[in-house]
Amino acid sequence: GITATGITKRFGSFLALDNIDLDVPSGQLTALLGPSGGGKSTLLRIIGGLESADEGRVVIDGREATGLPAQRRNVGFVFQHYAAFKHLSVYRNVAFGLEIRKRPKAEVRRRVTELLELVHLENFADRLPAQLSGGQRQRMALARALAVEPQVLLLDEPFGALDANVRKELRDWLRRLHDEVKVTTVFVTHDQEEALEVSDALVVINHGRIEQVGSPNDLYDHPVNDFVMGFLGPVT
Ligand code: ATP
Ligand code: MG
Repeated sequence: GITATGITKRFGSFLALDNIDLDVPSGQLTALLGPSGGGKSTLLRIIGGLESADEGRVVIDGREATGLPAQRRNVGFVFQHYAAFKHLSVYRNVAFGLEIRKRPKAEVRRRVTELLELVHLENFADRLPAQLSGGQRQRMALARALAVEPQVLLLDEPFGALDANVRKELRDWLRRLHDEVKVTTVFVTHDQEEALEVSDALVVINHGRIEQVGSPNDLYDHPVNDFVMGFLGPVT
């Protein structure tokens, strides 16, 4: 699991994150939800080690991660606009992280084949990223992030650039994938419906503060304030 405590981050004099405490139990899928500029990506980047906090600690699976660079945190990332290696096939893109870690060829082949099946891209192994649809490309990105068996998967609006139908399809698929692999996952979105449907727990962030944490049902049925209520529900 992930435990972040007292995370504070300033950009100049602007307080982007104000003393955030976040607990993501092992194997759970937690969604960070909130309006644009609320601090979701900044928090995710701090958890992943792509950015450092001014104050606070991050512990991943019981190991102190504060101050460790991203490569040493055993995290997988997927961003909204995924940067694949354009000149490499889908297969090689997924294999990349294993190859740079010098894993044996047979192991790489087995693992990549398994992952391509998991994301339903087994028939697309030889294509180039440009020859995939947006949804297929995001699935490749997920396979690539999972290749090195991260303890933690960090997804920052991974389906943000896609149209509503594909988003919904991928969201359902992500839920099933998560039930299968059970890697601790933090999923950033500003889409209420997506957050409510996909997550075990939901964290609503606004202006660098946590407004509420709870299960999707909790938050939907018992919002603690007008902000959460207005943000989550179709208010009549
Ligand atoms: P969105 O939904 O639009 O992606 P977000 O919740 O991910 O928003 P962040 O990207 O975390 O928001 O940004 C939080 C605040 O910090 C914003 O006001 C943003 O302008 C500011 N910010 C983020 N990164 C920097 C930076 N490198 N320098 C200065 N300000 C920054
Ligand atoms: Mg963001």
